[in-house]
Formats: sequence, C-alpha cells, structure tokens
Amino acid sequence: MPASRPTRSAPPAATPERESVLSLILRGLFWSALIALVLISWSPGELGSVSLSRLAWWRGAPQVTPEALLPTFTPDLNRRVGIISGHWKNDSGATCPDGLEEMKVNHNIALRVQEILRQAGYQVDMLAEFDPRLKGYRALAVVSIHADVCQPDPRLTGFKTAPAKGVNDPAQLENSLHLKRCLDARYAAATGLSYHPHSVSRHMTEYHAFNEIAATTPAVIIETGFLGSDRDLLVNHPDRVAAGIAQGILCYLRNEPITVGTPQP
Ligand SMILES: [Zn+2]
Repeated sequence: MPASRPTRSAPPAATPERESVLSLILRGLFWSALIALVLISWSPGELGSVSLSRLAWWRGAPQVTPEALLPTFTPDLNRRVGIISGHWKNDSGATCPDGLEEMKVNHNIALRVQEILRQAGYQVDMLAEFDPRLKGYRALAVVSIHADVCQPDPRLTGFKTAPAKGVNDPAQLENSLHLKRCLDARYAAATGLSYHPHSVSRHMTEYHAFNEIAATTPAVIIETGFLGSDRDLLVNHPDRVAAGIAQGILCYLRNEPITVGTPQP
C-alpha cells in the first residue's frame, strides 16, 4: 500500500472558538481602558464628584474649572463701612463737671449714623475704640467719631477732621482726603458749625486706628464739636450731627459733587 500521504488538515481559518478568544481579549482591553479613564478622572480629593475639567476633553466640551461651577460666598466688601464709636468699650473720653461723658455722646451719634447708612443699603460695622476687628480691617470707608473737651471757652466751638496718611498706600491718603472733604462740606451744612483748624491734635493726625486698618482702607477721624460750647447741638440734636456725618460718607461713597447740592438740616 503506498503510503498514503499523510493528510494534513487545512489550517483552521478563524474558527468560532478562536474568534471568541480574540473578542474576549479585545473586550478586556476596552474595559481596562475605560476603568483606567474613570480612575484618572476621579481623584481622591474629589470624592463624590467627577473632575469635570479632566473629563471635558473626553467629551470634546470646552474646558471648565470646577470652581467656576460653584457659587461663591465671599463677604460683600463692596457695601461695608466701619464706624468707630470713640472711646466705646475703653474709657469715658472727655468729661464735663456735671458728669457728661464724651463716650456716651459719641455712641449716641454713632448709632444714628449706622442706621442712616444701613437704610442707604450699606453694611455698617460698629467698632469699639480698640476693636480687635480693626487689625487689617477692610471696608469702603472708616470714620471715627469723637468730640472735644468740655471747657467754658466761647472760642472753643466747631469741628475738625483728619485723614489717614496712606503710609503704605498713596491711594489711601488720596481717598481719605476725598472722604474728609465730603465730611467737612456735609457736616458744616447739616450742623451749621464751622471748621476749627487750630485744635487738630496729634491724637487725630496720628490716630491709632490709622495704623491698624488695612493700608487700602480710607479713614477719617472727626471731632464733632466741643462738649462745652457745642453741647446743645451734640447732646440735644444728635440726629443733625449724625445726618451730617452720614451724608459726608455717602457723598464720598457715591462720588457726589462736594460743592453743590449740599443738604440742609
Ligand atoms: Zn475722644
């Protein structure tokens, strides 16, 4: 018998078995890649939320940072004003023989100023003379309210103001001078008091709070009058006094013309 040529089976072309193995490998690779992608997009710091910025390229979407999608809760410094109630929570300030204390006169006025500015839509912080919040305090404006000595001298009548000096920021001086000019004009108009330039003391020009607040915060200290000669105005007409201060602050905040449209009491 001739040796028969050993039969060689034809190479099995793409049997269903081999097809399923190949398919399994491909599927495995696909799922591995998908899981890897999800793990990359899900960093530990973002538990419970997908990093949208990292997925954005995958979707072909524009790049969006997660921060841009979240609401921000920063305090509204654009409406904040600080009022320092002179000597409040510290000492009595100037005193009269009958016991009248400057601190109480100042605070009575400061509360009214706060209310007027609140009604104008501002957030007003009532600050004590050495308030811990003064350190680095940021606001549109700070005004410190004081009154001068109680002496029966008819020459001691009138008000005066002094601006923060802008030691670390020239803009602070510029804005403080603007605030001062507004206060001088509106306060004189509201109260009828004249400016008393000769009694501006170093306690005013070197006022401690000027060195505590943020270098960018404009600030002015006002001595509303003398407890002696101007007592009737300061004690019996605190609304007029407060209106003059509040209108001066609003003149600055609203950038009103200083020489025209001055309100009358
Ligand atoms: Zn004082």
